[in-house]
Order: sequence, then C-alpha cells, then structure tokens
Amino acid sequence: MATAHQYSIVPKDPAAHLFEVTVLVASPDEQGQAFEIPAWIPGSYMIRDLARHVVAIRAESDGLNIELDKTGKSTWQAAACSGPLTLIAEIYAFDLNVRGAYLDMSHGFFDGACVFPAVTGQEHVTCHVNILPPATTVGADWRVATSMRPLDADRYDFGRFEADDYAELIDHPVEMGDIHIGEFDVSGIPHAIAVFGEMHFDMARVCHDLTKLCESQIGFLGRPKNFDRYLFLLTVRENGYGGLEHRWSSSLMCSRQDLPRRDVGAINEEYRKFLGLCSHEYFHLWNVKRMKPERFTPYQLHQETHTGLLWVFEGITAYYDDLFLVRSGLVPDESYLELLGQTITRVLRTRGRFRQTIEESSFDAWTKFYKQDANSSNTIISYYTKGSLIALALDMTIRYESQGNYSLDDVMKECWEQYGETGKGMPERGLESIARSVTGLELADFFDRFVRGTADLPLTGLLKTVGVNLHLRAAKDSRDAGGKPADSDLGSRPWFGAGLMNGNGVDRFSLVHAKSPAEKAGISPGDEAVAIDGLRLTAANFDTRLRDHRAGDSVTVTVFRDHNLMRHRVRLGKAPQDTCYLSLDSAADGAREKERSKWLHSE
Ligand SMILES: [Zn+2]
Repeated sequence: MATAHQYSIVPKDPAAHLFEVTVLVASPDEQGQAFEIPAWIPGSYMIRDLARHVVAIRAESDGLNIELDKTGKSTWQAAACSGPLTLIAEIYAFDLNVRGAYLDMSHGFFDGACVFPAVTGQEHVTCHVNILPPATTVGADWRVATSMRPLDADRYDFGRFEADDYAELIDHPVEMGDIHIGEFDVSGIPHAIAVFGEMHFDMARVCHDLTKLCESQIGFLGRPKNFDRYLFLLTVRENGYGGLEHRWSSSLMCSRQDLPRRDVGAINEEYRKFLGLCSHEYFHLWNVKRMKPERFTPYQLHQETHTGLLWVFEGITAYYDDLFLVRSGLVPDESYLELLGQTITRVLRTRGRFRQTIEESSFDAWTKFYKQDANSSNTIISYYTKGSLIALALDMTIRYESQGNYSLDDVMKECWEQYGETGKGMPERGLESIARSVTGLELADFFDRFVRGTADLPLTGLLKTVGVNLHLRAAKDSRDAGGKPADSDLGSRPWFGAGLMNGNGVDRFSLVHAKSPAEKAGISPGDEAVAIDGLRLTAANFDTRLRDHRAGDSVTVTVFRDHNLMRHRVRLGKAPQDTCYLSLDSAADGAREKERSKWLHSE
C-alpha cells in the first residue's frame, strides 16, 4: 500500500490572513510530480479557480529546492527528484463563506478544496493532515472542529487527522477558534454542532430539535454505510445565510437572530429557517453526497461538469427539507403549508419559468444560476424552488394515480438502494425510470411537460387530492413573501412591475419584470429613481407612493440613467395574482384526510 501523503496546515500569519500548507509526497512521480488545486467545490456549481488564492509556492526535497513550474491556472509541475518531495504553499484566506477559506486573529475556517493541493495521479492515496495551532500567541484558546478522523488528535484539539483519499480530504471542512459545542446522539450515532460567533442562544434546544430532525431522516432512507459521526459546523454572523453539504458534516452560516434565545418556547420564522437549512444539508447525506449523478462519479474538479439532474439533487432535497420539519414534529401542518405557499409564490413571480426548463436550469447552473444578473428572473428558473415543486407535484401525482399505494418516498428509497448504497452514479434518466418501475405508472407525459418542458404545475388540483386548498391573491406590498392570507382588503392595488432597492445611499430599480408596465414604459435595471408624479421616489416610500394610485392610472416616473434625466410615462397595471397561500380543506373527505396524514406524517 502506498505511503500516506503527509499534509500540514498552519495559520501562519492570522493578521495577514495566510495559511501555510505543505504536502510531503513519499513516492513522487519519477518523471516529476504534478500538483493541482480544484477549480470548483463539489456542491457549488461554479468555476471558482481556487488556485488564485495561492500567493507563494515552492518545492523541496532533502532540504534542496526543486524546480517548480506553473503549467496552467491551477497546476504545477515539480522537476524529477529521487527522494520524498515536499510542496509548500502560502494561501490567502479572507473569504468568510461556507465554501471558502478564512483566517483572522479571532478564528479560522477552510473548505479543503481551497487549501489542499492534490497530488496528480495519486489522488487515491491516504492523506494524513497535521492541523497546527497558530505560530503566534494568537489562538491560545482555540479549539478545532472537523468531522475528519483523528489519528492522534484529542477531541476538539489540534493534531493529526486522516482521510482515505483526496476526495475525502476535501470533504471535511475545518473550523478553529473559540467555538461553542453541543453534542447529541441520533440512533446511536454521535452528532455535534460546533458554533463560532455566538454564545447567547439556547444550545440545549438546538440539540434537542436537531436530534428529532436527524432521527426522522435516518428513519426514512436508513443509516448509510460508514456513517458513524456527523458535525454541523456553524458560523454565526450579523447577517448571513448559506450551507454546503459534506459526507460527514455540513458547513452552515446563519444570522444571529436565527438562533433560539433561552426560555423562548415557540419556533419563530427565523429559527424555522435555520432548522430548514440544517434539514436541507442533512438530507444531502443521502441525496448528492452518496447518491449522485453518474456524471459526478468521480468529480472532475478542473472543469465544469454538466448534468440535467441538479433539480433531482437540490430540488428534491429542497422538497424534503421543509417536509421533514413537519414529519419530525418540529412544526405544525399549518406552518409547513405556509413555507410551501412561500415557495409557490417565489416560482410564480419568476417569469423565467416559461423560458427555461428545469433540466436546462440544471445543465446551465454554472453560467446562469450561479452567475445571475438583473434580468435573470425573466430568463431562468431555480432548480431549487421549481425543482422542489416538481417533487411535490410528482409526489401528489404518484399518490393519486396509484390510489395511495405509492409515493415519492418509495421512489427515493429505490433510488437510494440502486444508486446510494452501491455508489453507482444515477444516469440522466435514472429517476424517471425508477419512478416508472416502482409505481408501474406511465409518467413520461409528466416528465415531458414539467421537467423537459415549461408547463406550469397543476398544483391546485393536485393539492386538493390531499385535502389542501391553494389560494392566489395579489401581493400586499414589496415585502410580501406569501404563505399567509392578506390581513386587509387589497382592493385594486396597482402593479408597477419593478423592484426598487437602496444600495450605498442610492435608490435604483433592480429587477424589471418582463412584460410589466415598468418594462413597457422603458424603465431599466440600474436606473436611479428620482420622482413619481413630481414627488421624490425612494425604496423606502415606493409602496406608499403606489398606494395612492389604482390600476389603469398613468404616472410619470423620472430617473437618472448614466447621468441623463429621463422621464417615463407608466400606465399601472392590475396586480397579478402571484401570491400563494394554502389552507387545510375543511370539506375534505376521510380518504383525503388520510392521504394528507400519510404525506405530512408518514402515517
Ligand atoms: Zn443543497
């Protein structure tokens, strides 16, 4: 067996945000060893060219310098040498992000892909990593949180760790700092949450709720092979949100207000959002970290890898994340329906759903979803939101057409058995063929219309089959995210059709909806708002100014575009019915109520 690669990483200069990383290769390629840093991070489908953060790099053998040539944007080639070869790199780390690397005098965080060079051709070799404390006096109280297997490191301490190969090495993010740790047990498997950035919250409550959530998910698809630990790695910021899945952990970011305060009973909207994030990343344990598209086995981290299946791995995960909040008993049915109503609202407000299929959205994630501009809402659709609604529609269709004998749960269980347990990648039409074979239903039309086509999902009728009513109304104001009935009569609220945002003290139109009154009048994203009918117009007073008008009224809007004053006559339209809320159907018969209970509570 090949000798393990010996990696080390040290926060060399926290004030300058520099990590030093070394890798000792016992048996370098006799022709000269090549090294490579990934261009993208699994789970985040955008070329990031992480090698751009390398500020210095050199190689040595036996204390002597070895020539090292840069051969591409992310690759290096060392000259041939007879003995073990060491690569030494300094990496700039000042990107506080769940998929980045960050170091300052208060803490450090890194995703392995950002800091560890791969030994080209020897990616299968075991990796040992020595995670060292800062060389300076900074960090005396720092602890380390990672899901990597310790070799000789004490719990939550610096020391040596081990990964089976390079792919695993970069699948264990690491946090170092004054971290707050909560531990809990899920079906006999040790779990922990390591929090940096906030101490004043109810850790016991978080551990209790995560236990319920994780238990119900493990009960669904079962304990994966080699799944013997799990770590939620959380950075709390004043304003932040995001997550990235890994095989034994997830890196999460949330806002201070998202965590529950002590002695507060109910789950508020912010904490519900946090639990939804944890639920999402945990579901990825199965769906994308173990079961994944054939095109990702193995990952090709030097270039884009296109698949039409991202909606299956992100959309279906986004469907189950909130569903497990209700299935695990953390939120009541009504709370889940509110979240679902908000997701439907987001999709209804995206006209790009008529331009791009969900398969195209998946395929083009690299250049479209991850590189959005002011017009994206008019031209693309999210494989997360629309993907989750396709999952919902597929679930309802299967339940209804199979007379309650099958559901999407059965399809996912079979997918897991075929592609998750085996490690065999899912082919591009894999979900579709399993859905057909498991249920015996002819679903080609469903996939043609909703996955390979842009037809709107018939959610009103489908939800009715499980005793849920779908209602549509106009938005109350620009902050109305849907999910709830309007608390006042909306009358004939007018439609302008553009967003107005304040950034750096300037109020500019942001998204201008396709075919909206604003677009027809000539208003463009980036226009600086000046006045409406002679009154100053700002992001803060936009809703109030519009409230004085009715559909059919014409208003004069003045804007600056590139320092030119422009005047637009906008004929206000009728507010679209694009805001959704759901309610339990009180007239539903027993059969529908039973089906609803099977859907929401698996019973
Ligand atoms: Zn995800």
